[in-house]
Amino acid sequence: TTVFVSGATGFIALHVLDDLLKAGYKVIGSGRSQKKIDALLKKFNNNPNLSMEIVEDIAAPGAFDEAFQKRGKEINVVLHIASPVHFQTTDFEKDLLTPAVNGTKSILEAIKKYAADTVEKVVVTSSVAALVAPVDMSITNLVVNEESWNRDTWESCQATAVFAYAGSKKFAEKTAWDFLKENQSSVKFTLTTINPGFVFGPQLFADSLKDGINASSGIITKLVHSKVGGRFYNYSGPFIDVRDVSKAHLIAFENPECAGKRLLLCEDLFCCQQAVDVLNEEFPQLKGKITVGEPGSGSSFLKTNSCTFDNSITKNLLGFKFLDFRNCIVDTASQMLEVQNET
Ligand code: NDP
Repeated sequence: TTVFVSGATGFIALHVLDDLLKAGYKVIGSGRSQKKIDALLKKFNNNPNLSMEIVEDIAAPGAFDEAFQKRGKEINVVLHIASPVHFQTTDFEKDLLTPAVNGTKSILEAIKKYAADTVEKVVVTSSVAALVAPVDMSITNLVVNEESWNRDTWESCQATAVFAYAGSKKFAEKTAWDFLKENQSSVKFTLTTINPGFVFGPQLFADSLKDGINASSGIITKLVHSKVGGRFYNYSGPFIDVRDVSKAHLIAFENPECAGKRLLLCEDLFCCQQAVDVLNEEFPQLKGKITVGEPGSGSSFLKTNSCTFDNSITKNLLGFKFLDFRNCIVDTASQMLEVQNET
């Protein structure tokens, strides 16, 4: 079985690549430049089961055509993970919404054109952001589950970068389900989406911490590098470990029962205060050097500031226990401190 992974150089995708290779799959990844591709192949010790294609910008129409024209006949499974994850923009359509939607459209169009007979499974990495609008995440009596949808429109999501990112995930995911409905007779794949909450956990390669960190890991780096008495934004929401997100990507196509499903990945609710507590409790070298906030106040904050996530369907389908928050934060921060000590 050969698996195509878009955005292979990213935080989550690198774990997925590693798990796929360990499980014996052949993997074709896409990366944005020859330089990034060469660096990635080297990190995987030029594993003969791994090859890469360049897809420079998923926002461009037909972005995946060349890669699929060349390799499509080899591909049985497509994991579409690439999507912009950053908040440094005011042009929300150009930098967030359009690439997310066009990327999804163009990879599915490329399958239809060049790999309709070979691709049997498609997994799209969506987000909890596709399930619930950021403003609704604090509604305490709201229950979000695998059937929920973020209620923002293309217009209303463009109020802030965070809302627009969430909108980009909603509209990208919707594009995938609509494509399948409209193309039932011309493709044979089934679709599964992965909808993770905030993803934390160690980088597959510690070096990634030196080259500009991905957005969700950046939340933890800021806390590790905070100052005594420093204030921090108490981000809160559902949390999941990157190693579980990766595992779920494999089960999503391996377990036939996942076909047509949305997998809501949430181990528990978290807030940054709880991460700060873990850092102070578990790392003697950080104690007295970083912020403490209001120790122990995290769970009462969540009670009054968060909706609930019910992912019992997903847990049943996946059939494994998710890694917990404390261990995830310990593993994440340990790697950050090791890298810091080396430099
Ligand atoms: P990363 O930023 O590490 O990964 C995103 C990947 O997409 C990178 O490889 C990036 O390439 C690629 N990409 C972005 N924009 C483009 C573009 N215009 N053209 C081509 N490639 C592009 O973030 P994550 O690993 O965290 O995210 C992976 C997926 O998981 C995304 O779909 C994200 O929305 C989703 N997700 C992430 C969560 C999290 O908390 N981390 C939570 C929920 C969902 P490059 O780095 O070269 O720009």
